[in-house]
Amino acid sequence: MSNSPSTPAGRSGQAPSTPEGRSGRGLLFIVSAPSGTGKTTLVERVVQRVPHLRMSRSYTSRPARVGEKDGVDYNFISRDLFEEMIRNGAFLEWADVFGNYYGTALADTDAIRASGEDVVLVIDVQGARQVRSRGIETVGIFVLPPSAAILEQRLRGRSKDSEEQIQTRLQVARREVGEYTRYEYVVINDEVESAVDRLRAIIIAERARVTPTCSEAESIIGTFA
Ligand code: 5GP
Repeated sequence: MSNSPSTPAGRSGQAPSTPEGRSGRGLLFIVSAPSGTGKTTLVERVVQRVPHLRMSRSYTSRPARVGEKDGVDYNFISRDLFEEMIRNGAFLEWADVFGNYYGTALADTDAIRASGEDVVLVIDVQGARQVRSRGIETVGIFVLPPSAAILEQRLRGRSKDSEEQIQTRLQVARREVGEYTRYEYVVINDEVESAVDRLRAIIIAERARVTPTCSEAESIIGTFA
């Protein structure tokens, strides 16, 4: 079986199968962290290094920032359209974060997982709670900054926000960090490359977990009979 990112599992139309021998639907990873922790950078790097792993692109009603592209960073849509999608049940989860809507389309994650690839949602703690409450099996990873003071420094350093926005983000962060025990793993983003390594290790280990649907392993066991 190929381990190359250019030949993703499931493309052949046969039963999708990941390189580590799991068959069937891809896993659903959730990465949450306070704003400014650097979670998007970590996930972008991990996705580049781990084959068969895709990052879900969220929908948002927030206007694009300078340098952000529609269909790349987010799907930027109007509040009206977002509310229509909520009414139509199009979201796996959605939340109001800092006064804007953010959400993950159910059809997007379903399509990725049905092809046998794993998907990572980079979403806030409210969204993570919604996914869990639907009874969907997830692997949650909470990213923590090394300290509150370092988070504050990072928020100031990226100079995207006003003083008022920084204070709001810090206040929300205080509430969010208390939720880390609801996640299966915690990664401290002290140094980007080592945090990426730890995230990658978690994903690889989760793929090797024994589950009742480990049909490729079962067929190998069958050859020993
Ligand atoms: P930003 O506006 O800085 O890109 O993102 C603000 C916050 O929204 C971040 O904490 C981010 O994790 C969260 N977020 C981004 N996309 C989604 C999503 O699809 N669902 C939820 N619940 N939160 C999201």
